[in-house]
Amino acid sequence: MTLCFILVYNIYMKDSARIEKAVQIAKKAHEGQFRKTGEPYIVHPLAVKKILEEWGMDEDTIIAGILHDTVEDTDLTLEDIKREFGESVAFLVDGVTKLSTARNGMRDIDTYLPTTKDNFLRLMIALGDDIRVLIIKLADRLHNLRTLSALPPDKQKKIAKESLEVFAPLADRLNMGRLRVEMADLAFRYVDPRRYEKLKDLIDKYNKSAEKSLQKIESEVSAALKKEKITFQISGRVKSVYSLHKKLAKHNQNINEIYDLTALRVIVDDITDCYLALGVIHSLYTPMEGRIKDYIAMPKQNGYQSLHTTVITKDKHVVEFQIRTKEMHEYAERGLAASFYYNEQKLTENYKKGKIEHLPTNLLWITELQMTAAKLREGKKVDLKKLKINLFSDKIFVYTPKGDIIDLPKGALPLDFAYKLHSEIGDHVVGVKINGKMSNLNKKLEQGDIVEILTSKNQTPKQSWLDRIITSHARAKLLHALNPSSRSESTTKKKRKPRKM
Ligand code: MN
Repeated sequence: MTLCFILVYNIYMKDSARIEKAVQIAKKAHEGQFRKTGEPYIVHPLAVKKILEEWGMDEDTIIAGILHDTVEDTDLTLEDIKREFGESVAFLVDGVTKLSTARNGMRDIDTYLPTTKDNFLRLMIALGDDIRVLIIKLADRLHNLRTLSALPPDKQKKIAKESLEVFAPLADRLNMGRLRVEMADLAFRYVDPRRYEKLKDLIDKYNKSAEKSLQKIESEVSAALKKEKITFQISGRVKSVYSLHKKLAKHNQNINEIYDLTALRVIVDDITDCYLALGVIHSLYTPMEGRIKDYIAMPKQNGYQSLHTTVITKDKHVVEFQIRTKEMHEYAERGLAASFYYNEQKLTENYKKGKIEHLPTNLLWITELQMTAAKLREGKKVDLKKLKINLFSDKIFVYTPKGDIIDLPKGALPLDFAYKLHSEIGDHVVGVKINGKMSNLNKKLEQGDIVEILTSKNQTPKQSWLDRIITSHARAKLLHALNPSSRSESTTKKKRKPRKM
């Protein structure tokens, strides 16, 4: 049975009696409640239900999705849910509720980052108990984003920002590519509307202008693949606005350095055909140096597999090709949800038994999270330093000796940490201890480091510190300390390459 068939079957299948019952109970519980859009509240849980069905989730997850807001917002209790739908559903609803409680204990939602180890652990336990909790939360957030226009502007911005910084990266960690793209683009529209419009416009124009040549390339490649008797599907993929935004930031806004504005996807039957197709494409066009990536032999951390190559055509067009099998494609689009699909029975059984070893490889961080959660529940001590989990890929968490968590961008140095604590601390740094050992100000901080800043009243800020800082926040503070009279300190000193767009 092919996956497509199962999917279609799943979406159009009549609701089971249990699901129907959950809908009725939710309708009753939310009666008289309304969303900001003016619609009856039940519209939201039903939308979450539909999203979870589209992702191909199991019945318990779908039921928990329908009921996910009842315990927090209505008279329905966890006991009621347990009685009506069993332990597993109650467990999932409880997890989603706990997840919002854990978030409530965190510092302003602006950064959404836990301020203490305790809160961080609470969040991890909520996530780690059963990863399906997170999947329900993602479905919940997706629908809230789709209907964000009904909220007042300040709330829109908060939710959008949180979605960009927390939920879209989480979707990425689960390799749920389609979800990540939709979430990020929906959210980015609210976070930076002008930039969004500008880039959207740019992508549309670029696609229009490239359309003809792309068609030509597509037919050339198709003919060559047919000649080699490779069965394939080929289609264009449109670059998402947010990923273009991020890439431009990485390349000093130089659009000429973005090589995957136009990409073609080739889906073939098996791995051998992937490499054959790569060869065919390279014999037609010139591959760009350093742009061939073999994520089949070396999958990304989230399990993503594909061959990537960028080529230059005879007409000097730069096109990226992504070559993968149907299974890899399915997994890239739906990620963990797709794995649930294949392993549904097995996974559900193992969750019930408390076993966790049946998660797909490459998602071992989830296993680690679950083992940590289990240990914490049993009251065992956990060495956070040994945890390799980093849900927020471009951030690191380090600790003060008291155990407060400070979040910094990757690559941050001790002075960034010191200025993040307080400018009084930053201005008087004489040394740093990392994990109890004397270190120096050039040492890059790493995930989980315990950082102690040594200060002296007699110390004054040094010009040379500018080379030992990577955050704009610390830079602004230091510049101000060096030259208190200057007003626009962060812009005058910092030389940037000219923006090309
Ligand atoms: Mn909700």
